[in-house]
Amino acid sequence: AKSEGRDTYRLYDHEMGQEARARRIMEHELRHAVSRNEFSLVYQPQKKIDTGETIGYEALLRWKHPERGNVSPGIFIPVAEESGAIVQIGEWVLQEACRTAAKWNEALTVAVNVSPVQLHSPHFALTVHQILLNTGLAPQRLELEITETALVRDMHRALATLRQLKGIGVRVAMDDFGTGYSSLSNLRAFPFDKIKIDGSFIRQVDTNQQAATIVKAVLGIGRGLGLPVLAEGVETSGELKFLAGEFCQIGQGYFLGRPAPLESIENEVAA
Ligand code: C2E
Ligand code: CA
Ligand code: CA
Ligand code: CA
Repeated sequence: AKSEGRDTYRLYDHEMGQEARARRIMEHELRHAVSRNEFSLVYQPQKKIDTGETIGYEALLRWKHPERGNVSPGIFIPVAEESGAIVQIGEWVLQEACRTAAKWNEALTVAVNVSPVQLHSPHFALTVHQILLNTGLAPQRLELEITETALVRDMHRALATLRQLKGIGVRVAMDDFGTGYSSLSNLRAFPFDKIKIDGSFIRQVDTNQQAATIVKAVLGIGRGLGLPVLAEGVETSGELKFLAGEFCQIGQGYFLGRPAPLESIENEVAA
């Protein structure tokens, strides 16, 4: 039994070592992925629910690894956050999204995800300001999607940065609403322009009583605070109908449009 225990430990130790090694390799690859042009953006429409009109697009990051092919953001973003590479990668995303949207019809906005690490990096607001100047995108056309995780890390600093961003004229949306911590106090304490309800609450909203209750409550909060609400992850006509009936203003999801490369939305975004 004693030797068995030792072997188990060795196997465990070996596996941990491999996992840590794989992570270090990925960290290293991510540091070079920007200069090696391995990143691209896809764009998913955000639509008015009552008219179906597209008001903007969310930019979503894609990484095509030379050997492993497409790696999901759910896998590589946490690694890039932990190593700090997300700051440089996030800057590339902002630059690319703003450069692209500057050529679109000026009624359209572009939404960009900002990692908590990036939000708290030095001079983040200044970086955003410089990118807007470089690309010529009107600040009002850029919406930064920020999760509550970013706020709780350092409340004072997050508030200062959000105020600087608002001062520049960019908009901020609270992303993944309902999945984080103490959502309600955060909505009051921070100057958000929009609430994005997480897709997990939208799934089966038309058939599941609990999901429906939560979504209705969030819509009530949005109305009370004067903030438009966007429902993420709309996958069926039933879900869309429910949202329309509850006067949810904006929707996003596979039923309304899948994330797509720029080439395939050229007609929709033409100025
Ligand atoms: P998110 O910000 O909540 O983005 C929504 C995710 O849901 C995207 O996954 C999108 O492709 C997916 N989605 C859209 N419609 C539907 C639907 O109807 N059903 C389902 N099941 N999924 C839908 P994606 O592109 O894999 O991104 C995953 C997460 O990775 C994002 O979640 C975001 O947190 C992060 N991410 C993506 N791009 C960036 C980026 O440029 N910077 C940072 N910091 N994070 C990013
Ligand atoms: Ca988002
Ligand atoms: Ca989400
Ligand atoms: Ca998210």
